[in-house]
Amino acid sequence: MSHMQALLSRAQNQCELCGSTNHLSIYGVKGPHLTDEDSALIICSNCKLQIENPSKIKLGHWQCLLTTIWSEYGPVKIMCYRILEYLKKETWASELLEQLYLSDEELIIAKVEPLKNPNDNQTVADDASTIDANGTKLLEGDSVTLIKDLNVKGAGFTAKRGTIVKNIHLTNNPEHIEGKVNGTAIVIIAEFVKKSI
Ligand SMILES: [Zn+2]
Repeated sequence: MSHMQALLSRAQNQCELCGSTNHLSIYGVKGPHLTDEDSALIICSNCKLQIENPSKIKLGHWQCLLTTIWSEYGPVKIMCYRILEYLKKETWASELLEQLYLSDEELIIAKVEPLKNPNDNQTVADDASTIDANGTKLLEGDSVTLIKDLNVKGAGFTAKRGTIVKNIHLTNNPEHIEGKVNGTAIVIIAEFVKKSI
């Protein structure tokens, strides 16, 4: 079975996002031209047009995601994430985004290529925020949990995965936070932590 046939069979010959049968094609979530089986889905020309050019997005069309977010296929969920993330100023979209479940790995891929409208400047402000491994914004004084072992240069110890770091400080670099581990203030890369509740 060819790659396209395998995907069409999974998709039941329908767009995996909206169910349309119009002009189906393969879309790779790691880049539109990469169609590795685990990272591709079948989409229709209408979905494709809107994904590739978000200025043409029609809100009503994406109500289809109400059911699509429950797909069992990673690439389908990844596209749901990117579309809902783009639309999250709409209450319904942000509520759907909260219900969408992605594995850690899928979430990383989902964030690689966000939908971008060249006319929007909204990403500029977001870039200045410090965010954790889940994309949650970190604030001064938050507590975080390390999600991997970190070698602390110069201090001669390893900060273990699972260690809770209380009362973090933000730095001028949005990718770094500061916190105390074993009584020593260290710089931690924000994507190696998760915000604690
Ligand atoms: Zn579609």
